[in-house]
Amino acid sequence: MLNGTLIQYFHWYYPTDHSLWKKLKQDAPYLESLGFHSAWLPPVYKGIHGDLSIGYDTYDLFDLGEFDQKGSISTKYGIKQELIDAIKTAQERGIAIYMDVVVNHKGGADEKEKVKAVKVDPQNRNEIISAPYEIEAYTKFFFPGRNGKYSTYVWDFHSFTGVDYDASKNESGVYKLLNEYGNDWENVPSEEMGNFDYLMHADIEFRNPNVTGELKYWIKWFYETLHFDGLRLDAIKHITPDFFNEWLEYIEHEPAIDKPMFVVGEYWETNNVQLLLDYLAATNERVALFDAILQHRFHAASKGGKDFDLAKLFEDTLVSTRPDKAVTLVANHDTQPLQSLEAPVEPWFKPLAYAAILLRKDGYPCVFYPDLFGADYTDKGGDGNEYHISMPKVDKIELLLQARQRFAYGDQTDIFDHANCIGWVRYGDAAHENSGCVVLICNGDDGYKDIDMGKDKAGTVNIDFLGNRTEEVKINDDGVGRFLVRAGSVSVWVRK
Ligand code: CA
Repeated sequence: MLNGTLIQYFHWYYPTDHSLWKKLKQDAPYLESLGFHSAWLPPVYKGIHGDLSIGYDTYDLFDLGEFDQKGSISTKYGIKQELIDAIKTAQERGIAIYMDVVVNHKGGADEKEKVKAVKVDPQNRNEIISAPYEIEAYTKFFFPGRNGKYSTYVWDFHSFTGVDYDASKNESGVYKLLNEYGNDWENVPSEEMGNFDYLMHADIEFRNPNVTGELKYWIKWFYETLHFDGLRLDAIKHITPDFFNEWLEYIEHEPAIDKPMFVVGEYWETNNVQLLLDYLAATNERVALFDAILQHRFHAASKGGKDFDLAKLFEDTLVSTRPDKAVTLVANHDTQPLQSLEAPVEPWFKPLAYAAILLRKDGYPCVFYPDLFGADYTDKGGDGNEYHISMPKVDKIELLLQARQRFAYGDQTDIFDHANCIGWVRYGDAAHENSGCVVLICNGDDGYKDIDMGKDKAGTVNIDFLGNRTEEVKINDDGVGRFLVRAGSVSVWVRK
């Protein structure tokens, strides 16, 4: 859709008060008013720690806040009926719902099993460092609290490739389980750690056809229960693309799943665009990907100040290489301060970064919850010390979102001719009255650009929609206007 805008409707430190689904229902009209077309929800099923789990530690995919398991009926975000109500209300407001799919691993097994395994070098998982021996692994899941409702599938060591704990010796490590699907890890896209199939908890064995069968059964049940519109695939670096090809093809053809699904994958690669392109090819372009490279560029730009070359902001990013496959973002629940992939964008640069994803032609922008609603939290950093983090709402974020809906249409000309000041022109289109804009972003001193807007624009007057500059810019008789931007700021010039 034209100018679609996604919100990541959660963050790592959202309060543990069962309120998110209720809040989504309340916020739906506000999100609609800002032009959001879609919302990505956190994992909606029960994790290892019940209602304390963020959701990326899947215990039971069939428990959407319905069963007394892991210490609570509710998930962190609310109970099943509240989730169903929130999705329905959001969809009535024209907001599509994307579900987070965490199927690399399961945790919180109900019982241990004695399993043959080998230990591998945690830094090179292809290097076996022990003879086969028996360990006690947390690999048996039968979900006593659910007691067979919706699915009777029992997960055991045939359904997992590896674990990180041997209970018989109370020893941690990386253990490759020896089952009938081979002694090797699965073939995954990432060669980090030799082979990056294993990430955490009990790693799912996709070579077992019972596993893929159960995950097909589950997604059909999941869809029939919630009627969502798309999927966000977690940790796809650690899962064989063969699985997603088979599973997404199933989803496409299963009559009960009666909508085309938008699918975006989390392949967190911040440097090498070729790896992202390889993944697109490996999944036959069934998925879009987050542009982690651009996110990291924003992080670097915000730290670098005037030493960062803005003319190279988009160089070798996914959005500049495959604009049709890029979901662009400024921050997410992993990059926010104190989290595992911490790469925060400094507050001064956030309005610039949001302009760069919301007001350009390419990419499907994703706005991070705290950037619209703010967030305050305390947690331990990597050094063991406690930190209080305040993430204020991004300055002018609502105006930037409105600018996307009102002005950011039509062809685009880039003026990336200066390391400290870049800009682009959107020429507008016939379908949107008075659309078109000139965007300038600057990381140095106050800047300007003389831009030829065409003689037909002579005499017209432009103002900064964000109000960061209060002057009027009049286009001269030759069709040229001198557009302005403050130091370390952004301006969005539109027809007065
Ligand atoms: Ca895996």
